[in-house]
Amino acid sequence: VKLSKLGEFELIDRLNKIIGKPAREAVLGIGDDAAAIKIRNSNIEILNKFQIRNSNCQLVTTDTLIQGVHFKLKGTSFAHLGYKALAINISDIAAMGGIPTYALITIGANKNFPVKKIEELYKGITNLAKKYKIGIIGGDTVSSPKELIISITLLGEADKKQMLTRAGAEVGDSILVTGNFGGPKADKFTICPSSPVPRIKESQIIAKSGFCTSMIDSSDGLVRSLFEVCKSSNVGARLFSDCVPIAHKANLKQALYGGEEYELVFTIKKGREAEMISLLSRRVETKVSICGEVVGEDDGIMLVDMLGKVRPFKSKGYEHFK
Ligand code: ADP
Ligand code: MG
Repeated sequence: VKLSKLGEFELIDRLNKIIGKPAREAVLGIGDDAAAIKIRNSNIEILNKFQIRNSNCQLVTTDTLIQGVHFKLKGTSFAHLGYKALAINISDIAAMGGIPTYALITIGANKNFPVKKIEELYKGITNLAKKYKIGIIGGDTVSSPKELIISITLLGEADKKQMLTRAGAEVGDSILVTGNFGGPKADKFTICPSSPVPRIKESQIIAKSGFCTSMIDSSDGLVRSLFEVCKSSNVGARLFSDCVPIAHKANLKQALYGGEEYELVFTIKKGREAEMISLLSRRVETKVSICGEVVGEDDGIMLVDMLGKVRPFKSKGYEHFK
């Protein structure tokens, strides 16, 4: 069987089966935006007790950018590329309701690759790392036969009680999103300056509210995020097409299936929508939209048009190998 037949997600499912029950239990293993492991340190328990620091979970995530898949060399600013490589990892920590802490950076490059570009890439990574107080503590450097590869592993911290996962959405919950979908950033090859903006501040407010039930970052598009949350939470969803925040000059199709937005897609308890929007608007300027509701698993994952007509989505969104 070839990868193109299976697709990214079915491959991960198969690999997960080979891994089986992990030799060492984690709070959260494969299947979310980041893994979570318990911090085993009595000092931290004491610190938590006195609310000096509220983190008892270590978060770990990794994301990779590959030339020809995620960017092309021609016309790409390497500072912007470095920014993006770290930002997409920060986004996964944000999706958990966590704070990023330390990073490891791996570079795979052809031996003829200009050193200056890699230095520029590092300036982009370092500038963003400073902004979020992330310590770069290591990595790996290897030669690549052709394409440039940038892979970042990011650690983070979260309070277990406050941590949000893709599981937890319940029937009746409202579906909310930050930002807009389908804009120029949704084109995988366009590496825009300072994009995406990791939604750490927003995620902290959402996680601390106490009435958010699940969260994911929309790395592969709005519809893909919806399918992932529904799969993990064993629920269905109704997305209202006229409530989807569409970016300037984009259309609904691009907003639904585009990808690369790295916005937060989250569910909250019904009736708390105004409270959530007020909590967020007091501290951040980021747009927040209510664009759907959680339904039973048997009701499926559907799009509701302006006339109230319900139909299934044309695709589940972006997937590698397919
Ligand atoms: P995200 O888009 O948020 O980065 P992914 O879709 O890449 O998440 O991954 C989904 C889950 O599958 C994560 O928990 C990730 O750690 C896990 N995963 C992805 N690839 C592999 C792999 N090759 N082996 C084991 N786990 C994997
Ligand atoms: Mg993610």
